[in-house]
Amino acid sequence: MSRPDITRVPLARRQITGRLHAIESCGTVDGPGIRTVIFLQGCRLACRFCHNPDTWNLNGGRSASVEDLLREVVRYRTYHKASGGGVTLSGGDPLAQPEFARQVLLALRDTGIHSALDTSGGRPLEVTGPVVDAADMVLLDIKHTDPERHQWLTGVSIDYSLATGDHLAATGKRVWIRHVVIPGITDGDEHFELFAALMKRWPNVERIDLLPYHTMHLEKWTALGKCNPLEGTPPADPAALDRGRRILRDRGLPVV
Ligand code: SF4
Repeated sequence: MSRPDITRVPLARRQITGRLHAIESCGTVDGPGIRTVIFLQGCRLACRFCHNPDTWNLNGGRSASVEDLLREVVRYRTYHKASGGGVTLSGGDPLAQPEFARQVLLALRDTGIHSALDTSGGRPLEVTGPVVDAADMVLLDIKHTDPERHQWLTGVSIDYSLATGDHLAATGKRVWIRHVVIPGITDGDEHFELFAALMKRWPNVERIDLLPYHTMHLEKWTALGKCNPLEGTPPADPAALDRGRRILRDRGLPVV
């Protein structure tokens, strides 16, 4: 199978550089098919349940050009094509480097590689809009439905994610939603009802994943010298996830 021609990407775009955290060659949980996942460095949020606080610092990781990333991902093109996959741009949150993220997504489009953007949508729409518009699909992480709890949980206003979701609906973008179920925070029936109502607002949502909170991230926080504010919170109860899925399914929502 022939590889995509990187020279189809304008040279000026190929030479743009940003900060890279890591690349996972063949992932299966970050969008359709087998995907190469590019984790960019940097995040403007500070989620209390974050599993990758080592990605927060925008000066961390290493420098990489758009061409460096393309050269890495085309090596796995056979797997992408055979599985209906492609590349997922994740983080951190790619919106911490909006112009670099946009250029990577445009370069993937230039080469005919399917792109997914994994983001909280947690920045103003002037920043978020051009980035999500450059992706073939978006994995939108919704952290909470209540404005005050969202601010407490992430350090940013819920309004940004809502505006991003509304923009994606208005432009008919293909969207999968991800939502972490945390004991005592996002696992109550009332919360699931509000979450379902929010999902009803976006008819373009193709799939909803409820993900269980777990505690494996605590070691990373400790290693970074950070005190985790959710220390003592137990892993999600499978029964709570089942209840949440049932509430969403009963409302005709595409939960998996
Ligand atoms: S948006 Fe993601 S990377 Fe950023 S703090 Fe939240 S969980 Fe961590």
